[in-house]
Amino acid sequence: MERNLLVKGGLVYDHDGDVHKPSKRDILILGDEISVIEKNIEIEKSTNAEVIDASNHLVVPGLINAHYHSHDTLCRGLFEDLPLEFWLLYTLPMGTFRSRDEIRLRTLVGALESLRCGITTVQDMLGLIPMTEENIDVVLDAYEEIGERVIFSPMVFDIPAVGMLRHRDLLPPEIQEMMGTQAGKPKEQLDMLEAQIRRRPAGGVTHWAVGPFAPQRCTIELLSGCADLANRHDLGVYIHVYETRGQVVMAREMYGEYGGSFINYLDEAGILNHRLNIAHSVWICREEMDQMAAADAGAILCFNSNMKLKSGISPMRDMRDAGMRVGLGCDNCSGSDVQNMFQAMKAYCMLGSVSDPQPGTPLSQEALRHGTLGSARSACMAHQIGALKVGYKADMMLINMNDTAYLPYNSAARQLVYSETGRSIDTVIIDGKVVMKDRVVQTINEEDLRLEVSELMRSFIPEYEKVVKEREVAIPYLKEAHQRVWDTDLGLRRFIARTQYGDGGLP
Ligand SMILES: [Zn+2]
Repeated sequence: MERNLLVKGGLVYDHDGDVHKPSKRDILILGDEISVIEKNIEIEKSTNAEVIDASNHLVVPGLINAHYHSHDTLCRGLFEDLPLEFWLLYTLPMGTFRSRDEIRLRTLVGALESLRCGITTVQDMLGLIPMTEENIDVVLDAYEEIGERVIFSPMVFDIPAVGMLRHRDLLPPEIQEMMGTQAGKPKEQLDMLEAQIRRRPAGGVTHWAVGPFAPQRCTIELLSGCADLANRHDLGVYIHVYETRGQVVMAREMYGEYGGSFINYLDEAGILNHRLNIAHSVWICREEMDQMAAADAGAILCFNSNMKLKSGISPMRDMRDAGMRVGLGCDNCSGSDVQNMFQAMKAYCMLGSVSDPQPGTPLSQEALRHGTLGSARSACMAHQIGALKVGYKADMMLINMNDTAYLPYNSAARQLVYSETGRSIDTVIIDGKVVMKDRVVQTINEEDLRLEVSELMRSFIPEYEKVVKEREVAIPYLKEAHQRVWDTDLGLRRFIARTQYGDGGLP
């Protein structure tokens, strides 16, 4: 018999209600869905409901990390002070051609961290090389095992990794080889993806999306195929666009037939529409924001990795003025080193503050919407996840208000965004199942996972050290290419606090 849940007596966060002082409500969960939200629900035997005592707790919609890659979770803490292209040189090989055991463990590590931090859904834009049926099963089985909801999009590309560099000609052939000169064929990858979507259709915690890597790594043919696939299966599309200055210089200088714009390039491929989400979009210009908004296309903002990887700050206040829709993400585990949407939401508000001196900063309640409803919308899952409402999937966290983050308790929205770290989450429900109760994960044995990971790291670390040693020869060339992209004046400012990357300071 199906086990139902009654979450009783919590302060239930409602995006459309009093976001500062949510009302006390009971939530009845039947199967995987929220069935009733009322002041006082009597327990009826017929519902066979297990009661979860939520008194003295905030009950908050599960957060949705709309940009994440599980392929480098084992690289957490290994890198620092590397601009994106330098970091890719080291991190990409540590995520490719791994054993089944390692793929399972790294998926579980990221999912465990996520659910412990109230992230009930991750959009895993996975660099799965090789993309085999067997590897896809390992990943999806791991998410099912731990009970984390996933919007899965193995990345596809038909232009090799070295194509990401604006000044690749500065690199000797052996260094270009090192960066990656291989790529698959469009049709083969699309056929493979479609076969997998049919073989393991969406259901339970499994969902799909389409993940072309980036415009500079995909031909029009591949992008059109992705658009078509997404249309036929009603899926969201995620793609990295304008993450670094080098990428926008590349668009301006090498995509002249598309007006020097990757957004025009995407439009030409027929993929600029309501399904499209561009991750990062640090170096997007205002005209392109208007184009995006007109197409109902969105951005997934990943401030923490953009800062750590020296990419710059996304112009979120301009995006807001343009009316672009927005979701939030935490990105790679070795790019900001944590899967924590509280940090992502706080960065959204704080960086909004240093983007414009005038009042009008994004508010905490807006950050909470972006990290739930905005991210849900990006996956074409609006009205399914992202809020505590009748008919929505039962994805939520219970926050213990005895934590000092709520001492004293003045505003749920502000304290969730500015004070919460994830520390006070003690219970998490995903798809109607209690996956963590009183801080104990119910679905996997965490201690066993810890042992397995530490055993694996005994071979992983020497391999990582070998990769760094072999590849550091490329750094001087990358530095030169990195420096060269600053020679082109773009009229865009995405760095703050140093005059040579700003507007020259006050007169
Ligand atoms: Zn990414």
